[in-house]
Amino acid sequence: MSKEHVDMWKELGLDLEAHDGLLGILGQAYGDIFLSQKNRPEGMKYFDFVVSEVHGLRIKELIEEKKKGNLVVGTFCVYVPEELVLAVDGVQIGLCAGAEVGFEKAEEHLPRNTCALIKAFVGFRLADLCPYTEVADFVVGETTCDGKKKAYELFSGFKDLYVMEIPQMKRESDRQLWKTEILRFRDELEKRSGKKITAEGLKKGIEIVNEKRKALQRLAKIRYKHPSVISGRDALLINQISFYDNPARFIGSVNTLCDELEERGKSGVSINGNSFKKIVMSGCPMAVPNWKTPFLVESAGAAIVAEESCVGERNTRDMIAGYGDSLETMLESLVDRYMKIDCACFTPNEERLENIIKMVRDSKADGVIHYSLQFCTPYLIESKKVQERCRKEGIPYLTLETDYSSGDMEQLKTRIEAFIEKL
Ligand code: SF4
Ligand code: SF4
Repeated sequence: MSKEHVDMWKELGLDLEAHDGLLGILGQAYGDIFLSQKNRPEGMKYFDFVVSEVHGLRIKELIEEKKKGNLVVGTFCVYVPEELVLAVDGVQIGLCAGAEVGFEKAEEHLPRNTCALIKAFVGFRLADLCPYTEVADFVVGETTCDGKKKAYELFSGFKDLYVMEIPQMKRESDRQLWKTEILRFRDELEKRSGKKITAEGLKKGIEIVNEKRKALQRLAKIRYKHPSVISGRDALLINQISFYDNPARFIGSVNTLCDELEERGKSGVSINGNSFKKIVMSGCPMAVPNWKTPFLVESAGAAIVAEESCVGERNTRDMIAGYGDSLETMLESLVDRYMKIDCACFTPNEERLENIIKMVRDSKADGVIHYSLQFCTPYLIESKKVQERCRKEGIPYLTLETDYSSGDMEQLKTRIEAFIEKL
């Protein structure tokens, strides 16, 4: 590790010894899960590089942005509109919370039966292990599930935190509430950055995020058509990286990869032979470095062809459309686009069921594997509805409930293999 990086981490206040340990574990897991794959697309080299520098060059870039006077905003949920952050020349970064890190410290404050994602974001902060949390000027929380809501009260004791209220239903009055929250967030960004959000600035933000979603939609469609040109775990990784990479560089790299994948499709390149079963993964978001379940599914001989999750199509499906040229029409379009997100925190949430079925039909998948984190009430309860709907549509379905530990890997492996064998 370069001395420059170590000095930077020291300045950010990281626990260097524990951080070294974390990077060691991540490097090992990355090698086993990603680099060991045969016949990977050349275009994945860029994403390998991003991961190798995830706590290095990218953090350095963010520090440079701060020196230029630009805000760095950390988030935990796809409801926080990046378009507004870009409109004040800021950088939005998704804070990963996908590893069992700092859990002991987190459990001093949180009940043991809290979902792993929440324990991880609190644990990363308490254990001084996440340079992204440290470098962020402030973090935006949101009132989605009860666990997050209450954990943010605790988190605000350790980090500058701003909370957006997310409605729980989708009536006109809820839209009004959401619009008020969007305007409140706009005001907060203006106050913190000292810059005014203009129509021109917001248009630039919308165009960048639309382009990012368009590139990820292109990748999703290629996988539907040619399921064997890239592995599901690589596609998941790209979606994970979309939350913290430089947007312009990311868009270019995804499109270059997609050009290569289209060529592979035409010439019949396959990374997993010809007899594989196609799976749609559905459920809770998988934050970096939560790769356990996709790895097990693909190691069992299946190909994951789509992710129905916030680190997947729930985040990329909808663009901001018809936004016009005035600030008012752009804000209205922004409100509408984010109200469409079908998170299980909403009630009722029938559109999620429609979206899952559409994804299965469009990708010609053989089955759905629903993935919930333990103690995640919204997704665990909703999984029954997904199961019921899949049964009605004749779609084979498996539900998994797990956490970030490796203790249940054998048991998961057995269940996944049995499910895939039956397809
Ligand atoms: S699952 Fe819900 S709470 Fe979690 S990131 Fe997605 S929208 Fe936010
Ligand atoms: S995984 Fe479930 S319980 Fe955990 S933060 Fe997300 S919605 Fe809340």
